[in-house]
Amino acid sequence: MSAIQAAWPSGTECIAKYNFHGTAEQDLPFCKGDVLTIVAVTKITREQAERLLYPPETGLFLVRESTNYPGDYTLCVSCDGKVEHYRIMYHASKLSIDEEVYFENLMQLVEHYTSDADGLCTRLIKPKVMEGTVAAQDEFYRSGWALNMKELKLLQTIGKGEFGDVMLGDYRGNKVAVKCIKNDATAQAFLAEASVMTQLRHSNLVQLLGVIVEEKGGLYIVTEYMAKGSLVDYLRSRGRSVLGGDCLLKFSLDVCEAMEYLEGNNFVHRDLAARNVLVSEDNVAKVSDFGLTKEASSTQDTGKLPVKWTAPEALREKKFSTKSDVWSFGILLWEIYSFGRVPYPRIPLKDVVPRVEKGYKMDAPDGCPPAVYEVMKNCWHLDAAMRPSFLQLREQLEHIKTHELHL
Ligand code: AMP
Repeated sequence: MSAIQAAWPSGTECIAKYNFHGTAEQDLPFCKGDVLTIVAVTKITREQAERLLYPPETGLFLVRESTNYPGDYTLCVSCDGKVEHYRIMYHASKLSIDEEVYFENLMQLVEHYTSDADGLCTRLIKPKVMEGTVAAQDEFYRSGWALNMKELKLLQTIGKGEFGDVMLGDYRGNKVAVKCIKNDATAQAFLAEASVMTQLRHSNLVQLLGVIVEEKGGLYIVTEYMAKGSLVDYLRSRGRSVLGGDCLLKFSLDVCEAMEYLEGNNFVHRDLAARNVLVSEDNVAKVSDFGLTKEASSTQDTGKLPVKWTAPEALREKKFSTKSDVWSFGILLWEIYSFGRVPYPRIPLKDVVPRVEKGYKMDAPDGCPPAVYEVMKNCWHLDAAMRPSFLQLREQLEHIKTHELHL
């Protein structure tokens, strides 16, 4: 059974009743029993449909739920540079465009107009595939996260990310950070990051403000501006002489609270590290970079993982969970208390995993309070089930704070 993703109203699955092999090469072949999986395109507007059918290609089509007649469908077809919208009427359990020919379901209707224009501007040739960028782009328009490029001023480059430059911007008089991407190939990963961010809101998570999708393919993710940059650079540049115990514990708690929130929402970050925590103008640490964040229990390619931060079971068996985030949090605590040192100093990278798997744990950073070191070590239980939850970690850190065990 083949699953074809096409631009159909959401929640609809059409089962093909007949075999249809197409008469020309570009025809969409349906086979009996094929399931056309309808991707999430609920009630898109006429304008959005026209955007989706751009650039013009005669015979390119999609079916959307009508905005004027809820419950009815509209067939949108590109023809000679224009998009025609045909209302599909639903009457007595049958569908029809011209009230002459009636169909049992959308699938039959599409089959009919694929083999013969029968009064339409053209026959249907190619369903608009709604995967990846285009679908995501439209998703942002519909969910209200799309911002207007005209209102954004890009001021200066402030960082380099995996996907492209990060710039300081001005959006309606507010300072914002803008991740810019001009390469279509990475746009999907970029949009995946943004779509995760739309679901999460916490004072210790870097807040998404919106997304800009340019006609010519440029993509921008706009987030709150974190004036003091990444935590690892912040720790390294200020160092021991500037940052006291209170400050280190405050950063630890800030991150822990964000992680407790993610834990409560069943999100696994997978790349928690001081380089992915940013510091605001008023010294609040916020977790950023949700590029790898996935809903709990999914698996991923272990090829590109930050070995020194990743739990052994995640490296070995791709077992990512909140508990593997807890392991990384332990490493992040070590980074904080060592003022941004690279973990496992003096151990060659290739030796880190074998040693860790045998139970090796880093020593406490110089001057690290024993109570904090205990918290770190608990995060590094080889048995993931033995590691504390973020809720427990937050309680432990708060206990240290109130009993001034950190000085
Ligand atoms: P990233 O692509 O998230 O790894 O970001 C690369 C670098 O850009 C970071 O290390 C920061 O220095 C900077 N950066 C990213 N996001 C922001 C932000 N929201 N505010 C300020 N600087 C940022």
